[in-house]
Amino acid sequence: MFSSKLANMAQFVLTNALLSDGRYVDVEVREGYVSRVVPAQECTSISGRGGVTTNQVSDTPDTIRYDIEGDLLLCAPAEPHAHIDKALTADLIPNETGDLEGAIKGWRKYHDENPTGGGADFDGTVERASQAVEMAISHGITAIRSHANVGEYGIVAVEALAEVRRRYADELDLQIACLIAPTVVGTEGAYGREQLRLALEAGIDIVGGCPMLEEKPAEAISIFLDAAEEAALAVDLHTDEALDPTLLTVLEIARQIRDRGFPHTVTASHCVSLGVLETETQRKVIAEIADAGIRVVTLPQTNLFLQARMMRTSPPRGLTALDTLAEADVICGAGGDNLQDPFNLVGRGDPMETASLLVVAGHQSPERAYQLVAESSRSLMDLHSAGTEEGQKADLVAMNVSTLRAAVAGTATRKRTFRAGRLISEQQISVTRHQ
Ligand SMILES: [Zn+2]
Repeated sequence: MFSSKLANMAQFVLTNALLSDGRYVDVEVREGYVSRVVPAQECTSISGRGGVTTNQVSDTPDTIRYDIEGDLLLCAPAEPHAHIDKALTADLIPNETGDLEGAIKGWRKYHDENPTGGGADFDGTVERASQAVEMAISHGITAIRSHANVGEYGIVAVEALAEVRRRYADELDLQIACLIAPTVVGTEGAYGREQLRLALEAGIDIVGGCPMLEEKPAEAISIFLDAAEEAALAVDLHTDEALDPTLLTVLEIARQIRDRGFPHTVTASHCVSLGVLETETQRKVIAEIADAGIRVVTLPQTNLFLQARMMRTSPPRGLTALDTLAEADVICGAGGDNLQDPFNLVGRGDPMETASLLVVAGHQSPERAYQLVAESSRSLMDLHSAGTEEGQKADLVAMNVSTLRAAVAGTATRKRTFRAGRLISEQQISVTRHQ
């Protein structure tokens, strides 16, 4: 493995890269950040074959050069909401009704029947989560925020993800958010609160839970905010993941944040019910969200899978109110959520899959869709901005397409992922025709 120490010493030059504005450039990277961008010399081929490297950037003995061959070079996507502890369990754990309740029921039943963990024990979780991480990296992702279930087997999922975070530390930022099984409130919630304390001790980065599944959501929100404030951590709550327009715990989250002047960032993931509110109410609720500074993550694939399953006529789409949130300048991100588990039977860990769904089901432009899975998700996750401008972190993805639209369409057959300027993954798909 290429140690981060060596990576920090090295200077990288990515030559013949196509930018989304049509320029061909060479990108110089020092200490992980873009230090210089200059026009590429003699690169004339859009398909990228035969690009010639340039001498405009100065080599040092430590310089490592990568010929990008005219591929499109973009800010690396980030996954703002995953559950890599549950990933790849679809063949192990059935969802009998196909909806959210069926997924939760299936997950709990599996744990009741496998008191020592089954495929969700420490080793099994590390193995599946590692596979999910490698899938993500192969598609250009260099940062993941994953929720980790806490409760069924204590904090084993948090411990497993902490091990995965350690193993892949040179390749991606893995933020671990706990997802405490209800309840954390009252006498009955003593176990949940103890699990939250243990999860904090085990090194979670973000406090999370699911107030909408609590009998007393306001009390649960207060407990999560207290814990986060004491530990000086951000908060990410599963919020209003249903089509019921009266389910708006996001308003209570906003109220509590403002009342206490909560000093860290707060993300409301899902916010499905926002998407079914009539326009005026939607604007009013979103004004509260904006005023409280809450960030919102949309998870198109899983919510298209889970929501409106029983409706045979005009099923709603399960996405949040993306346009109204954008109009109110709310920071939004888009992610994959579940990956081949009872909550979503399919998924490739590919942010272009999420971006495509944002185009077809969310009616976003390809440019906005890419921004939601890349720059905007990075911002939501409090990461340094990445990209091809001087001063940005050189977490980048190169794809053999000529436009951002084609990248979002998922047509690239060659993908290279760069972490702080260093090539960490290369994927090529080839097709042979037989006649
Ligand atoms: Zn989730």
